[in-house]
Order: sequence, then C-alpha cells, then structure tokens
Amino acid sequence: MNLYEHEGKQLYKKQGIAIPKAVLIYRGEDIALAYDDLVVERVVVKAQVLSGKRGKNNGILFCNNQKEVVAAVEQLFTAQINGQYVASVYVEEALDIATEAYLSITYDTKTNQPVLVFSQQGGVDIEDVADDHIERHALDIRQKDIDVDIPFANELWHCFLEEDARLVEINPLVKTKDGQWIAADAKIALDDDASFRHKEDWVHYESRTMMGRPPTEREIAVEAIDQGEKYYQGTAGKYIEMDGDIAILFSGGGASIANMDALIKQGLKPANYTEYSGNPPREKVHQLAKIVLSKPGLKGLWIAGGVANFTNVKETFQGIVDALDEVKPTYPIVVRRAGPFEKEGMQLMEDCAKRNNLTMQLFGKEMSMTESAKVLAEQVNATV
Ligand code: GDP
Ligand code: MN
Repeated sequence: MNLYEHEGKQLYKKQGIAIPKAVLIYRGEDIALAYDDLVVERVVVKAQVLSGKRGKNNGILFCNNQKEVVAAVEQLFTAQINGQYVASVYVEEALDIATEAYLSITYDTKTNQPVLVFSQQGGVDIEDVADDHIERHALDIRQKDIDVDIPFANELWHCFLEEDARLVEINPLVKTKDGQWIAADAKIALDDDASFRHKEDWVHYESRTMMGRPPTEREIAVEAIDQGEKYYQGTAGKYIEMDGDIAILFSGGGASIANMDALIKQGLKPANYTEYSGNPPREKVHQLAKIVLSKPGLKGLWIAGGVANFTNVKETFQGIVDALDEVKPTYPIVVRRAGPFEKEGMQLMEDCAKRNNLTMQLFGKEMSMTESAKVLAEQVNATV
C-alpha cells in the first residue's frame, strides 16, 4: 500500500524526523478556519495524490494569505493531478530552503538487501542525478541501528523496519536557511504481505486504489469477497475498474499484462483488470465473475489464460458458467484457455452457451492469446 504524503510524514514524526507544521483539509471542510488555526502566513498548499511529481504538475501551490489559500485549495479539489483524484489537501508552513537533498531506503533487488540512498542534489528525480553525486550504503536487515552519517538516516531506518516498508523516501530532505534538517516530502510504500502485523494501524488509513482514486462499488464488493476468504485469500481477489467496455477474466499474472496490451492494440478498451489464477474455488469465481459482468455498458467478454499448471479449468469455468447462467450476456464472448480438466471446462462453457443462446467462441492452446484478442475485436466491431 502506498501512503499519502501526510500519512508518511506522521510515520516519520514518530521516529523523530522533523516535519513542517501543517493542517490537512478534506472536501467540504472550512478552509479559512483551518488556515487560521495553523497560524503561519506563508504556506505551501499540496495536493494529496499517490503519484509523485506534483511540483511539476500544478499540485504544489505557494500562498501568502487566507484568500490565496482558499482559492488554491478549491482549485486543487476541482483538478486531477497526474490524472489522479485529489483525496485531500495538505497546507504546510513554507520553508526557507537553503539546500534540497535526497534520502531513501528501499530493497536492492540485485544484492537482495536494503540500501540507503543519499544525494546532496535532491528535489529532482533521483534518476536525473549523476551517479557520482549519489551515495549508496548497503544495510544489514538484522541490525537495529545503522552507522551512516547522514541526517535522519537512523530514524528513517527505524521507520523502514518498524513499519515493514518497501520504500521510505524523503525528497526533498531540506536544510533550512537557519541550518535545520526537515522532511519536506514523504513517500512510503508499505509491504502488503506484512499487513497482518499492523492490523490496528492500517485500519485507520482511508481506502485507496492503485488508480489513485477512491474504490468503486464493484472494487469494494470484490475486496469484501476476498476478506471473507481464508485459504484462498488473494486468489480471484483483484478487480481494478477501468473506463472501457470489455469485461476481462484473465488467469496468469504475466500473461494477463501482455493480454491487456493485446486488447488495447486491437482498439478495444478494458472495463476492468481481473486475474483469477491460483486455483480459486468455484463459488469464489462465481461471485467474482458476477461482479465483473455487472458493470453497465459492456460490449464484450474476454476469458483468457495460458496453459494452467495446476489451476483446475473445469472448477474455475464452472464458477464463470454459474455467473453467465444468471447474467446471460448478449455481447460476444471469447474464451481462450488450456490446462488441467480443459476438456470438461470447455464442455461446460459450450453447454452454457447453448442453453442461454450466447455468442461464444472457444479456443484452446491451438490459438494464441493475442490472436484471440483479434477474434474478439472482430466480433465486437461486427456487433456495434
Ligand atoms: P513532489 O513534486 O510530488 O515530489 O512534491 P514535493 O513535496 O517534493 O515538492 C516539490 C518541490 O516543491 C520541492 O522539491 C521544493 O522545491 C518545493 N517545495 C516543497 N515544499 C516547499 C517549501 O516549504 N518551501 C519552498 N520554498 N519550496 C517547497
Ligand atoms: Mn518530492
């Protein structure tokens, strides 16, 4: 889970990292009152979105009085920053910046250990900083304290460990004109696989999606199914809603991403991203498929996956068939799948298509997934 700046800063503060004085404003709250409570004249008004680069994309505004702040906050609430929904606005005391540095800790996938990255040249993207201006310190995950002589290095390390983070970043780490170090920004990615260790803390975070907007009713519904699940939690548990009209039921992580590209290349637009591999039980697939098919305005359904290793094609298809029996879509359906019990699975689909009079084309491994996207596109275009 990625945190908003204001949430990240609270975790930094807990460890003794200095953060600017600030107030958080949600939609509908009294902006003028919040600003007055802050008792700071010069402020930075910052859109709270999950993407970075707000500075370059009108998400960071500088204000000198109440009138400007009210206008700035209202403006940010009507805007999207980097295509993302502005969840809240953070109004912060403006800093008198002498220098901007960069400090982060993350996992280095090459050395398989955490690495602390520091640069005197912060504020900009670290990718744009010349390599000889970047310090890297490999860290030992077993050590409670680190011996790195950089402001807030140890505090950030404690934050990284205690919160089970995958990334903690301060960019810029500001040195003010009176010589104080302070975290002007916060970017934290928490490790979802460690969520069970932080249940009490994490429930307080407002819900969010990878799309940087509040979850849709269907996304919430899919999450609820997954929560009720113990053994199969995480399988058939992902539904990301998109703007298009082609319903998606994919299996196989890597193939699914390639399939999204193939679909878009055919000029079709996905209504969702859903991946149900991991051998989920029939009932779970049934509920998931029902939600996928409940989106209004669908023009096609693509059920695609590679050759499964152990996912039971019959069992999972039975779940989809249960949903098709209820929804009886009138739009074209293309299926491409192979793996254990594929024959029985395909038979179920065929029978379902017959009894409900569905427009369905079935393919096994003789047809590539990308090709089957083409078939779907032809069908959809012929229908419209
Ligand atoms: P990001 O673009 O999403 O990473 O947002 P940041 O919070 O890092 O802000 C972007 C830039 O705005 C920073 O690199 C600073 O140059 C500037 N900035 C942010 N806060 C302040 C502040 O309090 N005072 C001043 N003068 N500049 C700031
Ligand atoms: Mn930043």
